[in-house]
Order: sequence, then C-alpha cells, then structure tokens
Amino acid sequence: MIVLGIETSCDETAAAVIRDDRTIMSNLVLSQLEEHRAFGGVVPEVAARAHLDHLDTLIKGAMDDAGIGFADLSGVAATCGPGLIGGVMVGMMAAKAIAAACHLPFIAINHLEAHALTPRLTDDLEFPYLLLLVSGGHTQILVAEAVGVYRHWGGTMDDALGECFDKSAKLMGLPYPGGPHLEQAAHGCLNPAAACARFPLPRPLKGRPELDFSFSGLKTAVRAHVDKLPPGDLRREDVADLSYSFQDAICDVLQDRLGRALIKFKATYQPTQPSLVLAGGVAANLRIRAALTTLAQDNGFRLVAPPVKLCSDNAAMIAWAGIEHLRLGHTHALNVAARPRWPLVEMEGF
Ligand code: AMP
Ligand code: MG
Repeated sequence: MIVLGIETSCDETAAAVIRDDRTIMSNLVLSQLEEHRAFGGVVPEVAARAHLDHLDTLIKGAMDDAGIGFADLSGVAATCGPGLIGGVMVGMMAAKAIAAACHLPFIAINHLEAHALTPRLTDDLEFPYLLLLVSGGHTQILVAEAVGVYRHWGGTMDDALGECFDKSAKLMGLPYPGGPHLEQAAHGCLNPAAACARFPLPRPLKGRPELDFSFSGLKTAVRAHVDKLPPGDLRREDVADLSYSFQDAICDVLQDRLGRALIKFKATYQPTQPSLVLAGGVAANLRIRAALTTLAQDNGFRLVAPPVKLCSDNAAMIAWAGIEHLRLGHTHALNVAARPRWPLVEMEGF
C-alpha cells in the first residue's frame, strides 16, 4: 500500500510518499518563511497563493523521488483542517483532483491527528499513548487510544506555546520565527540562577488540578521586563538572560502539567510500557526535550520524540495518517469540505 500525502494548512507546502511498511519513499517540504518574514507572522492570503504557486512542483518532485507514477498509488491523502482555510483548500483540491483523475481513494486528514499518529510511523508505537502537541497554533495534552479515537485532557486557554515563544522573541527584538532564535539566545546566558533572579517570570496554572495551559500572561511579563530595560536595542546579555529565564518558566510549567498527566494516564490505562510523545514544531527545543526526558524517566515513561523534520509540519505524517485510515477501510467522498476548526475529539466516526 502506497499513499501520496499533501500538507498546506499553514506556511509549509509539502508532499510525501509513504509505504505501509513505514518506508518514507519521499518527503518534500517548502517553507514560506521568506514570504512572511516582512510581516512578522503568517499572512493567510500570502500563504494560500504561495501554496498554489509551488504545490504542483512539489507533488511532481515527491513522486519522482519515490520513483513511482500515480498508477502505483493506493490512495491520496490531504490535510482538510484545521488550518488557514485558503491554504487547506489548495492542498485538498489538488488531492481530490488526482484522486478523481486517477480513480484513487481520497482520504481527508485532520492535521492534528497526523501529528498524533507520527510516532507510529517513526517508532511503531502501540496504542494507547500520551501526547503533548506543541506547535505555532496548538498546545494540547491528548491520549491516542486508536486510529480516530483521541481524548483531549488539556489545552491552552489563550496563546499556543510556539506563539508564546514567537511573540516573546519579537519583544526582545529577535528575528521571525522567534522560537529557535530564543533558544539560541539562551545559550549565551552565563549565570542561570542570576538570570532567573534578574528576570523573574510567572508559572501560569502551575499546581492546578486541570491539565490546561495559559501563556499570554507569561508573554506580558516578558514585555514588562523589556519595558524596564534601557530603550533601543536590548543588550545581548539581557536577551540571553531573559531568554534563559523564559525557557526556565516554560519547562517548569510543562513539567508540572505533564507530571499530572502522566499520573492520570497510568491510573486510567494501567499500561505495561507507558509512552509520552512529543510532537509539533516546538518539540525541536532541546531544553524542553531534556526537561521532559527527565520527567518521563522519573515516572517510568519512555519519551518518544520523532525527528524534528517529522515533528514540525510535513506531508509524510499526512500520508502516514492516510495509510492508517486506508488500512481500516476509511476513505472519503470528494465533496468533503475543508474545516478551519476541527478538534480531534470530533474525529470518531468521520
Ligand atoms: P509548527 O507550527 O509545528 O510548524 O511549528 C512552528 C513553531 O515552532 C513556531 O512557533 C516556532 O517558533 C516553534 N519552534 C521551532 N523551533 C523551536 C525551538 N527550537 N524552540 C522553541 N520553539 C520552536
Ligand atoms: Mg508551520
């Protein structure tokens, strides 16, 4: 079974071909960073046009890299939501057109589900597992029970974690997208204890029994610190110290929220080999990976963090989700609509 996957829900145009033995036959991602840099964030209309300009070339490239033709495919899968609707429609319509022209099954994929199923592609993970999804647009604690069956245990009440990284980085004058730059800047911190004392930051919702997050107050606290520094460009040392303290607060909050989730997961599922999966673009952050590795080890969990290329937006995960559904006989009619919002808990029976 071989599936072509297409991803266009945000600012990455991507196409990939996957075989059901978990072989990634091709995996192409074109990031639109340059198109959006001048605006300091993703502009939906610009993103949709860029997808339209590049998708055909990417699909052809993915098919060529895989060394196959459309007749060799078992199905075509595309992200149908959630995401920026203009972009989602570009990828979805391309997939539907190929499916119609080549008489192939079409599989409508929920982008969040594709992130959630990635550890089954990379690590052949068995259900159930606990998942922390942290990206530019999403922050959720989920349980994956089976293909199409997910429990939402917690989420952000305001900003997504990646958004919080990006907005805080912007306040410090770091380039877009700020997350990786902020992580890099923190390496320049010479005295972590002094940095955290100089720039104390809140730990929103720490200690609360529910498993939710809130990050907008943290960003506001960063702004308050920046406003107290001398006007103009911040000094390198200040950016390094504030970035360090910021990541310290984030890791503290994540360890607290996830720590509770691990206990609840064990009590609910009594798993023999419990696993915690880290997904989404923010999963590239090594400080967060280290904090969660320690937490997982302390609680008898295995931390599964797919390679960065498969953690952030890509089409290999879309094609893989297509294979998971196709194996179960799930295909979709060509009149399925694109959805800007599509919570995972609404997947059952889709
Ligand atoms: P995604 O939404 O999955 O495409 O991921 C993009 C988000 O991940 C953006 O908000 C990035 O700033 C963030 N991100 C990427 N790398 C890092 C990093 N090393 N540390 C923190 N955030 C990151
Ligand atoms: Mg993205």
